[in-house]
Amino acid sequence: MKIQTADVVVVGGGPGGSTAATLLARAGHKVVLFEKDHFPRFRIGESMLPMVREIYERLGVAEAMEATFIRKYGAHFIRADGSEECLYEFADALDCPFGYAFHVVRSEHDQILLDNARKAGVEVHEGYQVKEASFNGARCTGVIAEGEDGKTEVSSKFVVDASGRWGFMGNRNKLRVADPILRKTAAFTHFKGAGRLPGKHDGSITIATFEGGWFWVIPFKNDVTSVGAVMHNEYFRKYKDIEGGIFAQAVRDCPAVGKRLENAEMMMAVMTEGSFSYRSSEFAGEGWVMCGDAAAFLDPVFSSGVLLSMRCAEQIAERVDKGIKTNSYSPALFTDYEKKMRKGMSVFWRFIYGFYDTAFLDLFFRPNNKFKLVNTVSGVLAGNIFPSFKFRMRLWLFASIVRISRVVRRWRGEAVPDRAGA
Ligand SMILES: Cc1cc2nc3c(=O)[nH]c(=O)nc-3n(C[C@H](O)[C@H](O)[C@H](O)COP(=O)(O)OP(=O)(O)OC[C@H]3O[C@@H](n4cnc5c(N)ncnc54)[C@H](O)[C@@H]3O)c2cc1C
Repeated sequence: MKIQTADVVVVGGGPGGSTAATLLARAGHKVVLFEKDHFPRFRIGESMLPMVREIYERLGVAEAMEATFIRKYGAHFIRADGSEECLYEFADALDCPFGYAFHVVRSEHDQILLDNARKAGVEVHEGYQVKEASFNGARCTGVIAEGEDGKTEVSSKFVVDASGRWGFMGNRNKLRVADPILRKTAAFTHFKGAGRLPGKHDGSITIATFEGGWFWVIPFKNDVTSVGAVMHNEYFRKYKDIEGGIFAQAVRDCPAVGKRLENAEMMMAVMTEGSFSYRSSEFAGEGWVMCGDAAAFLDPVFSSGVLLSMRCAEQIAERVDKGIKTNSYSPALFTDYEKKMRKGMSVFWRFIYGFYDTAFLDLFFRPNNKFKLVNTVSGVLAGNIFPSFKFRMRLWLFASIVRISRVVRRWRGEAVPDRAGA
């Protein structure tokens, strides 16, 4: 077994791991990053939010992203039968200086970020899976990783777990709690030649709702489009073994997407992913901390995963830097990180549960800019996770209108189904 030392070990080379590693290396620390795969590797999570740009700029990769990926100017929502549709434009977003985001092929996106980490001085080991964490009492003192040429043990002052939904520390320490309501399964693939929105919105995302859940349609450069269905558990169970596959069934049930795929050719086998809604009961311990998906993930509907992971990474880098400089490894170092990120994530969490609720969705499909509510919703969709007081008041107003409309509709005897747990 090889033995080495570092200030910080980062587990995972996704957006969260690369960002934390880059910022810590730039702060002068010796950082070793282990990534179990060899890049470039496929990853789902292809729609970015405008506020990610702030972090790209900080990392120095904004130009590379601009040169590589298509612009996404907004988010288009449509009912399965096309009876209602609306478009939220990022140019209207409250407290967001960026009018657009990108749609990215994750293998290329994550490669840019990982190469950038290397450039900052991070020692990156691809093809190395972290197998164990070393502890001295309650304090994490490093990891053991295994690659093609054997095992390596690294002693470190901090371990940053950015292992994504694999959840290295969360599973090891049994901290992961499945969301009690959301139990969705996603099926997705890429197409060539799918239909696009006209004009400047040819790169914008479409979210199409249907009886079984909702679809994303995410355009890339080169006429490639990612299409995925996120399905309620009852729909998934009903059709999972259907001939021709559940993805094809979902497309049949959602003509708004079927129309976009009329002349399209599927480029790869349909992949599925489930059990992706969870939070960790704690985000950190003595000498270790979890970043992004390793700490929590709820649902992809508002494309928040990469932004949240990179925001976690920024917060973690600040605190780990402080911990090393002050020789302090206590979990208390991360108390305000956890509090801040749970609060930031909850901006999306509220919208996510809302998205499966008819009263919320009705309001969402009929935007009205009284009290700047369209700007507020666009601001959330743009990734404003640390909203100002005024912004929070408008969010509260939006939620109150949803609540009132639910009560009124129930009072009128109308059904207001909440499909979050379906
Ligand atoms: C169906 C679906 C659709 C989604 N769509 C979107 C979207 O449109 N936009 C968006 O922003 N987000 C989306 N997400 C979420 C997005 O995928 C994640 O939030 C994002 O990838 C999190 O980044 P991360 O760096 O935390 O983790 P990851 O990107 O998962 O990176 C973790 C890395 O750690 C490595 N790793 C894991 N275990 C180990 C180990 N033991 N040792 C070494 N390496 C390890 C993995 O190989 C991986 O490269 C979606 C998620 C799902 C399920």
